[in-house]
Formats: sequence, structure tokens, C-alpha cells
Amino acid sequence: MFTEPYHYTRAFAEQLDGQDELARFRDEFYLNPDSIYMDGNSLGLLSKRAEQSLLRVVDAWKTRGIDGWTQGEHPWFYMAEQLAALSAPLVGAAADEVIVTGSTTTNLHQLVATFYKPEGSRTKIVADALNFPSDIYALQSQLRLHGLDPAEHLIQVQSRDGRLIEEADIIAAMTEEVALVILPTVLYRSGQLLDMERLTAEAHARGILIGFDGCHSVGAVQHHFSQWGVDFAYWCNYKYLNSGPGGVGGLYVNRKHFGRMPGLAGWFGSSKDKQFDMEHRFVPAADAGAYQIGTPHIISMAPLIGSLEMFAEADLTRLRQKSLKITSYMMGLIEQELSGMGFTIGNPRDDQRRGGHVSLEHAEAARICKALKENGVVPDFRAPNIIRLAPIALYSTYGDVWDTVQRLKTIMTDKLYEKFENTRDVVA
Ligand SMILES: *Cc1c(COP(=O)(O)O)cnc(C)c1O
Repeated sequence: MFTEPYHYTRAFAEQLDGQDELARFRDEFYLNPDSIYMDGNSLGLLSKRAEQSLLRVVDAWKTRGIDGWTQGEHPWFYMAEQLAALSAPLVGAAADEVIVTGSTTTNLHQLVATFYKPEGSRTKIVADALNFPSDIYALQSQLRLHGLDPAEHLIQVQSRDGRLIEEADIIAAMTEEVALVILPTVLYRSGQLLDMERLTAEAHARGILIGFDGCHSVGAVQHHFSQWGVDFAYWCNYKYLNSGPGGVGGLYVNRKHFGRMPGLAGWFGSSKDKQFDMEHRFVPAADAGAYQIGTPHIISMAPLIGSLEMFAEADLTRLRQKSLKITSYMMGLIEQELSGMGFTIGNPRDDQRRGGHVSLEHAEAARICKALKENGVVPDFRAPNIIRLAPIALYSTYGDVWDTVQRLKTIMTDKLYEKFENTRDVVA
């Protein structure tokens, strides 16, 4: 895509920035002037609008006390549902199929507690060998709660090359012993985007339910969960959606499952008109709201109000287009400028098969990341050998990408990484 010699200049990067129709959003974020942020797929940056919505909610607490639940600009009692309506277009669902609640891991627990019903010889859960550890821990513990041994009942589809999971291998694992399939939308290391539509159709053809972890795709990639018939999904809002550390997550349940009793019940899952009857008979909400448990973490939800407003304005189609273009530009630069330096691009190259980050492999990855930080670039290291670089459509520039690759080049040619140890720090 970017192959002519003139593409490999800073002037060309600036030309691309000049044509970027999303460029105005950059000014809405708090960017550190001394460093280039390439880690927005791990923790998105704070926007001024997210800060403002947080401050408005704090102010409602300050001025209204308990009346903040029902009064003010964003009454807390309805905030999870209001944010769900704003999130729904990002996942391709109806507003009532989504709820903003919990965290990725707790939502997975809730959904598996609800949808995993081992029966007869159908007892197994299919996952993949490359998923994020927390998802696997949750699945193992859910199996144990049923008195089942994870070693036997959790099937982890293996990768052929250590990077990707082949859809065909997942489908081959969908046997008559499988009750449930849980997969990431985008693999957190290699950035592979799975074919959710195909996997859903194949699971359903075999009478198996399927759910997806959308942490690495929501806010970066389009989804059509309802149209594809995906049974359920869950995600965090602090990566591409910039809702802040520990920000409240989201989940989706297809409407064909409305009316089920949630596996983990709590009073905030009640039908809203019944909740304050304080009866001991639980009447769940008729929609995805039923999967809430306790009092919503209002302060940790508040930044999402401002953040999702920006997503509505920016439009996900445009965000995905820029993300594909800027990551493609980055890969082109890596191949041109860093060739012969021991790097391998580990993510799929096909636009249909990749998410929002570039997965750069190198034997010295840990210390190259430390050198990058020292040289004003914030990357993300994933053991044992991956440098994740995520130029973010809302706030990264082509100039940032050019500078990042140039700094990497200097780090390699001047061996600046050699003064660091090749081991990871406590956080990544
Ligand atoms: C970020 C991430 C998580 C984190 O889960 P939390 O419950 O928010 O800590 C889990 N799974 C995947 C795939 C992730 O990318």
C-alpha cells in the first residue's frame, strides 16, 4: 500500500495528517507533549469530554447527595442503560441487548454462570490456547463450580504457529461434547481478528452456544453481534473506549435469550419498577439489564459518557478506516526502515483478519520497549517477545508513527537497548 520511495519521509506523514478527517479529535485528548503514546489498546488516554462528564457526576454527588440517583443531567439509576444505548452501535446490537456493568472478568463469570449448562455428554467448553489468562481462569473456576475437572472439560484450541488460531481448527473442536464456545474477537498478542460470523454459524449448526470477549475490538472494529446471532459478548471500556483505569465494562446478550434467569443474581438486575419493592422474589429485568448484580460503580462509569459521545461523532466506520490505514502505514515503514534488524510482524496482514494494533516480534523485545520509553515512545510489551504498537484513530497521527519507527531504528542501530535487561517490569 505504501511502497513508493516518497512515502518514506516525514513530509509524507504530514501530508497524510493533513488529509485526516478525524484529526480534530486529537486536540480533545490529554497527550503528553514529551512522549508518543502507542499503548491506547491497553489503556486509552483521557479526553477532555470524559473528564468533564466525570466532573459533572462528581458535582451531582456534591450538590444533590442521594437525589443524584434520580435527578440531574445523568441520573445514576438509569446510567447503565443510557450508556448501553450509546454502546450498542459499536457492537451492532439493539440498545436493550447491551448493559454497561461489571468488568470483563466478572461479566464472563456472569455469562458462563448463565449460559453454561452441562448436560449428559455435552459438558465441554471450547476456548483457545492464546486467550488472555483471566478469561481462562474464569472458565476453569466455572467448571470447578460444576464439579468438573478443567483438564478434561476445557478444550483449548492450539495455535499452529504460536500467533494465530485457525477458524478451521476451532470448528473442528466443536464436537457433540461441547456446550459452549468462548473466544476473543481479536487476540491480544497477535492482533488476529477472528471471523465471528462464520464461527457463530458453525457453532449454532452444531447446537452450541458461543460468546466473544470484545476487549481488543470494541471501539476499533465494527461488530454485528445481533445480525450474526452471537449469543453473548463482554468487553472492557478502558482500552479503545478511553473510559479510564478500571472503568466499568459492558456486555451483550442476544434478545432470543431474554427472560433467562441470570446465573448470578443481584438487586440491580431487577426489573426497574420492581427493584424498590424490596421483595425477596427476584424479578429480573426483561432485557440485558438483568445481568447487573449490585449497585453500579457510578464514578467509574461517568467518563464513558463523554467518551461515547465522541465515538458517536467520529463514527466507527471512519475510525476503522483510519485504524487500518495508519497501521498499514506503520507496517510499511517497519518493513522499509527496520529490515534486517531482527523484527517480524506477527499480526495478519489482511484487513479482514487484523484488529487495531501492530504486533512486532523481536528476541530483545523487553529491552527494546524499555529503550523506547526512555526515548519518548510508550509501547506495550507482552512476554516473551512482543512489542505491541497501537496508533489510535482518535488521537494518533501519521507523524507519531513516523517518529516511532525512526526512534526504533536509532535504538537498533545505536544498540541503545543494550543498557537494559531483557526482562519485563511488573506491569507489562
Ligand atoms: C483487558 C482484557 C481483560 C481484562 O479483564 P478485566 O476484568 O477488565 O481486568 C480480560 N480479557 C481480555 C481478552 C482483555 O483484553
